[in-house]
Amino acid sequence: MAADIIDGKLFSSGVRGRVAASVSELKARGIVPGLAVVLVGEDPASQVYVRNKGIQTREAGMESFEHKLDASVSQEELLALVARLNADPAVHGILVQLPLPGHMDAEAVINAIDPQKDVDGFHILNVGLLGTGQKSMVPCTPLGCLLMLKDRLGDLAGLNAVVVGRSNIVGKPMAQLLLKESCTVTIAHSRTKDLAAVCRGADILVAAVGRPRMIPGDWVKPGATVIDVGINRIEEGGKTRLVGDVDYDSAAQVAGAITPVPGGVGPMTIACLLANTLTACCRANGLPDPE
Ligand code: NDP
Repeated sequence: MAADIIDGKLFSSGVRGRVAASVSELKARGIVPGLAVVLVGEDPASQVYVRNKGIQTREAGMESFEHKLDASVSQEELLALVARLNADPAVHGILVQLPLPGHMDAEAVINAIDPQKDVDGFHILNVGLLGTGQKSMVPCTPLGCLLMLKDRLGDLAGLNAVVVGRSNIVGKPMAQLLLKESCTVTIAHSRTKDLAAVCRGADILVAAVGRPRMIPGDWVKPGATVIDVGINRIEEGGKTRLVGDVDYDSAAQVAGAITPVPGGVGPMTIACLLANTLTACCRANGLPDPE
């Protein structure tokens, strides 16, 4: 039987709608959430992401502050901008678009962001808070995956979750979130032995690798929930198209539910960025976290 498709576009529009409703309530009290996005250089993919973030921020009723810096800007100048944004009360969230040019120390820049405004959840303090199960800012992509999993499965406790990929921005925080939900979590990576067998044990399979269609259907446990984070641009039939890390056609024959690429995890990432900005704004104003 074919898997249910987890429609990230539809799900994310629900999240954005709830964020927009909360923003209008805040505005009625004279509070306007603001998100600052900093782009250094002219990486084409980053330019698209930043443009979309700006559009969706404004659509949600928030202030969007975009700072575009030349690729040759010095680390000191970038740090000075981050310091100004940290001190600006109109800015509740700060996102420095990665990757940064090679002459910059990305970790130093991220760790210079006020942790309360770190809506990407990459600051070392937020990483530590998440790792110890405390209230933190949670990285947007794994947060989006978790929201979709909980919507689909409800209580995740006791489920076997396999996360393929151990990056700081997706794999590791995803594993932490699943652990917090009391899943039994395995993190697989390029040195994992018999990855196929590891994946076949997964009730929840999250693929965050960056290799087109690497996970075939016969690695998927029948009925499993498959979350495909991968975004890979490939040439096929003379056209460029986006595919995930999972071989969708074969996996969809076996899984219970699966996210497509595009239209799965991708749209949830910006929705969660907006949700994190709203959360940061509420916390800055001494209000409870939004639902
Ligand atoms: P990274 O390149 O930082 O990490 C990839 C991970 O995959 C590494 O841990 C690596 O293992 C592991 N890996 C590589 N090859 C294999 C293999 N053959 N078998 C098992 N594991 C392997 O990527 P990211 O985490 O940044 O991104 C992963 C994917 O998700 C990309 O396609 C990216 O475009 C996409 N992405 C999508 C987002 C969205 O909004 N939907 C947001 C962020 C990323 P090792 O550590 O051993 O090298």
